[in-house]
Amino acid sequence: MSLMNTYGERAITLTKGDGAYVWDDQGRRYLDGLSGIAVCGLGHCHHAVSQAINEQANALVHVSNLYLVKPQVELAQRLVDVAGMDCVFFSNSGAEANEAAIKIARKYGNDKGISAPHIITAHSSFHGRTMATLTATGNDKIKAGFTPLIDGFSHVPFDDIAAIKAAATANTVAVMMEPIQGEGGVHVPHDNYLTSLRALCDENNWLLILDEIQTGNGRTGSYFAYQQRGILPDVVTTAKGLANGMPLGACLARGIAATVLQPGHHGSTFGGNPVACAAACATVNTILTEDLCHKAGELGRYFIARFRDALSNNPHVVDIRGQGLMLGIELDTPCADIVTKAMQQQLLLNVTAGNTIRLLPPLILNKAQADDIITLVVQLIHDFYA
Ligand SMILES: *Cc1c(COP(=O)(O)O)cnc(C)c1O
Repeated sequence: MSLMNTYGERAITLTKGDGAYVWDDQGRRYLDGLSGIAVCGLGHCHHAVSQAINEQANALVHVSNLYLVKPQVELAQRLVDVAGMDCVFFSNSGAEANEAAIKIARKYGNDKGISAPHIITAHSSFHGRTMATLTATGNDKIKAGFTPLIDGFSHVPFDDIAAIKAAATANTVAVMMEPIQGEGGVHVPHDNYLTSLRALCDENNWLLILDEIQTGNGRTGSYFAYQQRGILPDVVTTAKGLANGMPLGACLARGIAATVLQPGHHGSTFGGNPVACAAACATVNTILTEDLCHKAGELGRYFIARFRDALSNNPHVVDIRGQGLMLGIELDTPCADIVTKAMQQQLLLNVTAGNTIRLLPPLILNKAQADDIITLVVQLIHDFYA
C-alpha cells in the first residue's frame, strides 16, 4: 500500500453513493450514518450538486484569485446573507478557514499595539491539523510529538465562562469555540453559554470566533448553530457540509473583524475554486429551499427520544446527547470496536473521544432510514455488552 499510514487500516473500499447509501467494491450497500464526517448533508451524488459541478467543470475550472469568478461572488453574497456577516474569505478546508480566523485575531491585536496576541480556546476542542489549528485544539494526544507548537493560545474548560475570565490576560484578543464540540465527544453547552460568551467578548473588545466547520450548514437545526442563540460572532468558520463533498472552507467576518485583512495579508491558490463554489451554491440553495435545517432539528429530537427510550436502562450508557443531526451516545467503556461491528451490519458510524458513538447522518435522511439506524445502533450496543 503506497498511501502514507496516517489513517491506519481501512476495512472497505467504497465505489458508489446515492442519497443515504454507499456501496463497496463487493456490491454491498451501507446506510451512511456519518455522511463523510458531516460533509454530504444532501446525501451522496445529490442531483443539483452533481449538475452544478458538471456545468461548472465544462465552463471554467480554475483561474486563480487574480480574477473574479461568478460562482464565488454568488456564494459569498448568499453566505453573508444567511450568516448575517459582512464578508467572506474562501479556503479549501476547515483548518485553513481557521487559519484565516487566527490571522484576523492576531492582526486585530497587532493593529491595537498588542505584539503577542493571545487566543483562548477550549479543552477537548478540535480546530484542525495545521500547526496553528493543532495548537488551538484542546487535545494533548493529537499534539504529542509535534513541538514546538505555536505561541499565543491557552485552553479552558468548555461551557465555563468563569474559566475564560480567569485565563484572560492584557494580551487576550479573541475567544475561539465550537458552538457544540464535535470530535471532542458531541458536547452541547448550556443554553446561555454563547450569549454569555458574546457579552464577555463585547465587554473586553475580544473577537468571538465560532468554529462551525462541523455544526454549520444545517447540521444542528439552523444554518449556523449560533442562530438558535440569537447572537452574531465576529468571525465564523465553516467547511465540512458547505459544498456537499467538494473541498471548500469559508471564514466569514463582521464589523471590525471584516476590515482587518487587506490586500497582501492573506491568500490561497485554490481557495474559492469555481467548481467547489458552484457545488456550494447548489448545496446552500437546496438546504434552504428544502427547509433541511428545520428537518434536521426535528429528526434529531426524534433520534434522541427513541435512543433514550431504548437505552436509558442500559447501565453502560452514560449519556445520549446532541442537537439536530449531530448525535452522541457516550458509553462507560472504550468502544472503538463498534465501528467495525456496525460496518458488518452495513451501517457506517464513528466513535470519537474513545467512548462516544457519533452519528452525523445526511440531512436528507428519511424517517424509515432513521429507524433503521436506531434499531441497528441499539442492537449493536446491546450485543457489545452481552
Ligand atoms: C473537521 C473540523 C475541522 C478541520 O477541518 P478540515 O477540513 O479537516 O481541515 C476544524 N474544526 C472543526 C470543528 C471540525 O469539525
